[in-house]
Amino acid sequence: MTQAEALLRLQELELDIIRRSKRLQEIAATLADDTPVNQAQAKVQAAEEALEPLRRRARDLEAEISSNARKAGASEDELYSGRVKNTKEMQDLQREIASLRQRNTELEETLLDVMMKVEDGERTLAEARAALETVLANRDTERRHLIDEQSALQREVASLREQREETMKAISPENLARYSSLRQSKKYQPVAIMTGNMCSACGVEQTKAIEREVLRGQSLATCLSCGRILVYKSAAT
Ligand SMILES: [Zn+2]
Repeated sequence: MTQAEALLRLQELELDIIRRSKRLQEIAATLADDTPVNQAQAKVQAAEEALEPLRRRARDLEAEISSNARKAGASEDELYSGRVKNTKEMQDLQREIASLRQRNTELEETLLDVMMKVEDGERTLAEARAALETVLANRDTERRHLIDEQSALQREVASLREQREETMKAISPENLARYSSLRQSKKYQPVAIMTGNMCSACGVEQTKAIEREVLRGQSLATCLSCGRILVYKSAAT
């Protein structure tokens, strides 16, 4: 392996490590992101909060209706007990009973209306709870897959780092320094393959002298245009 070939190998390993590290970051971010669960939980909470005052209103109406019915019943008992002899008093009792019955008719209509709203609210709550269950179940599945992918990637990165260390041993300190100095400005691609007499990174054709130097592979030759280290790679490999 020539120095240029070793540098190309080093670049491929480093790009592989970068790709996997990016994916590992994405996975970590997804694992830490609770937005879908939080949103589904917020919907459940909103449905509960909407339902609670309706249920309370229904309970209050029921209590008022039974209280009115009790009062009307007691007044009827009084009326038919034979204890009330006074006509005025009897009329008052009859009016009170009629008024309580009338009031209860109105309250029952309101109660019916509220009960329908309670049913709607209960349906909304049940749907929100089911949606939350689905989100949690999907998240569990997704997490398992991500954690599996994460461990696989971590193993691969460890292996790539070892290969990187091995590859670096075959490169002279001067060449390594040249590669490193170009790495940042060339976006981690300081080495380019020469195809025919053309730099595959920038597409510029090289002079005969450069082409010969690359083919010989004894020293590092750089592209006359982009300055990348050129390496010859036959189509077969
Ligand atoms: Zn170039």
